[in-house]
Amino acid sequence: MHGKAPVIVAALEALELAFRQTPAGLDTDRFGTFTRDVARAGDQMEAARAKAQAALDLWPWAQVAIASEGAFGPHPALPIVPGGHEIVLMRDRDGRELIGADRTFDTNYAHQQVSAPDDARHFADLCGFPAHGLVLMTPGGAQPITKDIADWAAFDRAVAAAIAEHGAVWIETDMRAHRNPRRMASIGRAAANLAERWAARCPVCAHPGWVPQLGPGRPCGWCGAPTQSAWRQLYQCLGCGHAVEGVLEPDRRADPASCDQCNP
Ligand SMILES: [Zn+2]
Ligand SMILES: [Zn+2]
Repeated sequence: MHGKAPVIVAALEALELAFRQTPAGLDTDRFGTFTRDVARAGDQMEAARAKAQAALDLWPWAQVAIASEGAFGPHPALPIVPGGHEIVLMRDRDGRELIGADRTFDTNYAHQQVSAPDDARHFADLCGFPAHGLVLMTPGGAQPITKDIADWAAFDRAVAAAIAEHGAVWIETDMRAHRNPRRMASIGRAAANLAERWAARCPVCAHPGWVPQLGPGRPCGWCGAPTQSAWRQLYQCLGCGHAVEGVLEPDRRADPASCDQCNP
């Protein structure tokens, strides 16, 4: 519904899939909208899974379905800065899944409530309007007023009308992919990550997704104590169960700044 297909199809070229348009009658907005008119169906992964399964249910010939879902909020590595997390999920009829992801600081995810037209313009400019879309809502972000403002003249009119009626207006970035080029780029990176996972094969059975999970414990460069820095890597095949445990860059020691002993 939001123009993601060309970006995802281009990134997944190596999978040699024959892509078909989403079946008519699949309204993915029913799995949740960013403007909260529809609450999301479960967490991010569950929402993506529900979309992919709905496409499989609607289209009996499809072997796999691909769905994307984004989440925005405080970045886990730096919680005061907003971040985005996109997943692109591929699911087949046996319930097997392969997931690509992109976590980024490159997002304009933001909102502000203003009661002066100049403040509204200033915020809109910071968000990258009109290349990036904006959503106007009633104060507190309670109810959407409009999502479809294409230019500054329409923006000024809509803001003036909203302030006249409600005393203030809540403005937030439109996170729908077709109105948010930075989000669209992140979806492309998540799809590229899916293609990498597809190409990474189990050495025993060639099942895709032979990518390690990382665990902490890299020894501190000063005192040798285990730190939160990535150290262990665990490969585990979802096809045959083959597992390999190892150490990532065994000769490198952790920055003492990440050590709880040296830098509590
Ligand atoms: Zn230390
Ligand atoms: Zn395997």
